[in-house]
Amino acid sequence: MKATFGHMGTLTPIIEMVLEDLGHEPVTPNRPTRRTLSLGAKYAPEFACIPFKIVQGTYIEGLERGADTLMSGGGYGPCRAGLYGELHDRILRDLGYDFDFIFFWPPLRKPGHFYRQMQKLKGSHSWRYLWKTIRKAYGKLSVFDDLEMAAQRIRPREYKHGSTTRAFDQAFSLVSRAKTGPEIAEAGEEARQIMSSVPYDECKKPLRVGIIGEIYVQLEPFANFFVEEQLGNLGVEVQRSIYLTSYTKHDVLSTKGDMGSRKLAMPYLSQKVGGHGQNSVGDIIRYSKLGFDGVVQLAPFSCIPEIVAKSLVPQLSKDYGIPVLTLFIDEQTGAAGVQTRLEAFVDLMEQSRSRKTNVGA
Ligand code: SF4
Repeated sequence: MKATFGHMGTLTPIIEMVLEDLGHEPVTPNRPTRRTLSLGAKYAPEFACIPFKIVQGTYIEGLERGADTLMSGGGYGPCRAGLYGELHDRILRDLGYDFDFIFFWPPLRKPGHFYRQMQKLKGSHSWRYLWKTIRKAYGKLSVFDDLEMAAQRIRPREYKHGSTTRAFDQAFSLVSRAKTGPEIAEAGEEARQIMSSVPYDECKKPLRVGIIGEIYVQLEPFANFFVEEQLGNLGVEVQRSIYLTSYTKHDVLSTKGDMGSRKLAMPYLSQKVGGHGQNSVGDIIRYSKLGFDGVVQLAPFSCIPEIVAKSLVPQLSKDYGIPVLTLFIDEQTGAAGVQTRLEAFVDLMEQSRSRKTNVGA
């Protein structure tokens, strides 16, 4: 099988490794570009949100490179995520492509379907071998999360502009190339050393911002205009509400989602609205309680769960005294506009912090 899949941040080399381990030939997607997005948008229905368009463009690029199988996962709940596998399938077949589609529902929601799809994926390998492969992949995922968190912490404190991003890229590619368990452990150790060798000001107390919102635009830097890096370069330490390991724990191996943020959201939004909408409400409260200076909500344009969360932002901001910047993103969104809004938001948080400091003095 020559399989391709959507590009989503650090998940890409993990899926590549799993496919190789199972004897398939991955057609690994490159990081999406404007071409990928235009290609996807050209054939997407008007109502589709940006993750659908980017993934659609990525599939077309993969099929053009010889992929014969597409892989995807779908969510549940009252948003369009559950429809997207079917929709990709129909659009691409109408365009004349021929392929097999392996689509994963969350395992605890449709266990029988999940089992059958896993059976296709594992081919003639044993279940035990598949389990070992998945465990190894999770180990690599944890290393990537650690590296991302280190970059988020160091970047706003670095002495030399760009040194954190350079170190992260080096560390990331080192771990991506590691294939066996011992290689991953060794590369992970070396990668952590690369990150800790970046010179930075340990005494600096940068602004802190929580990044919340829809999963794809949080995890794929192309989709969010490299917001983490941009904020870091503006001297802001960021923390995302979703990392791949936490997503696996809360949303893949459980049907409940992140109960911590969902409970916090209850007084404002007592039910799930699809995607991570309810979590976004709770995450604003959580970041306020943790003393963060602000929150950036990333929302695909027309994403209903994030629109619902956004409608509560003025009240949450007032009740918890935390500024929230919502960035709605679609193919018309321009990098310059995002940068200007981030810079203005950082100014606002700096002023707010110095006011608090002066009052306290
Ligand atoms: S969560 Fe939002 S962006 Fe994601 S599929 Fe649902 S509506 Fe689209």
